[in-house]
Amino acid sequence: MTKVHNFSAGPGILPQIAIENSIKAIKNFAGMNLSILEISHRSKQYEAVVAEATQIVKDLLNIPTGYSVLFLQGGASTQFCMVPMNLLDENETAAYLKTGEWAMRATKEAGLFGHVNVVATSENENYNWIPKNYEIPSDAKYFHCTSNNTIFGTEMFSFPETNVPIVCDMSSDIFSRPIDVSKFDLIYAGAQKNMGPAGVTLVIVKDAILGKVTHKIPTMLDYRVHIKNGSMYNTPPVFAIYVCLETLKWVKSLGGVEAMEKLNIAKAALLYQEIDRNPLFKGTCAVEDRSRMNVCFVLENPEKETAFLTLAKERNLEGIKGHRSVGGFRASLYNALPIESVEALVDAMQDFEKLN
Ligand SMILES: *Cc1c(COP(=O)(O)O)cnc(C)c1O
Repeated sequence: MTKVHNFSAGPGILPQIAIENSIKAIKNFAGMNLSILEISHRSKQYEAVVAEATQIVKDLLNIPTGYSVLFLQGGASTQFCMVPMNLLDENETAAYLKTGEWAMRATKEAGLFGHVNVVATSENENYNWIPKNYEIPSDAKYFHCTSNNTIFGTEMFSFPETNVPIVCDMSSDIFSRPIDVSKFDLIYAGAQKNMGPAGVTLVIVKDAILGKVTHKIPTMLDYRVHIKNGSMYNTPPVFAIYVCLETLKWVKSLGGVEAMEKLNIAKAALLYQEIDRNPLFKGTCAVEDRSRMNVCFVLENPEKETAFLTLAKERNLEGIKGHRSVGGFRASLYNALPIESVEALVDAMQDFEKLN
């Protein structure tokens, strides 16, 4: 099989071992002589999968007591409404940091439930930097931010010091670096960027923030229902959770999120160095806010874009076309992407320079 370098922004690259073990589980799960696709989610063999996945999430992120770990459905996009539905009453205000398309969508959904205060935004510069030093009103019910802006290629390397509970969409950088979970009240992440396949969403929630709104919450959208039932109120996304388990086991085997961060820093540095050195290319974001996960860059001469994409294709560099709202290129360097793939991209950029 030809080696393809997979820079896809999402669903993104997964560790080969996780894919291989998942294939095995499709054929014969836990020695049951049945496929994981055709067994009860209430079987003890499967309950062990959810228990182990939950435990590994807690271990990898050092989650303190008082927090619950949930595997839900509906993608990160459902969290955009589930968060305000569970935390915000009509007469209350939530503070939002608007740093990109996903943050914008989250902001919009919150407006369906209460007042929204956009404390800062970089919208007028096409979200190419992360606002800092904004005020979060002390009476805000919560503050919502997006740790990594998948489309625009910026990442938050510090979070505001505030007494207001912090809610964070970590869809595209969860498990890429250590985080201090105690600083957050709710974290959510669609799995398909950096922790597994599409179809499951991780939620880490501080139990004490729940149960304070006065309005009714539909059963399936009430975090407390899922906590009480250990993510098994209804049929969970059985296979997607299994693939997450295999992916998280791989993260753990390599030394956890600290080891991931080291690798991710090295990979991102290699590519940004070339973007800055190579006179044909330039980065699109403020240097201090550059994402380690999604590297956005353009050609000084956009007319050469097709030529570079053709060269990339010849070199089996897949998924580097930029999002339509930024243009140019985006290389996603998620955990499972080996540094050799970044080296192959850098080689292509250097050869492109020689040809031009
Ligand atoms: C991809 C992405 C989303 C949307 O996720 P879905 O699972 O498709 O709903 C939300 N936020 C961020 C940061 C993302 O990268």
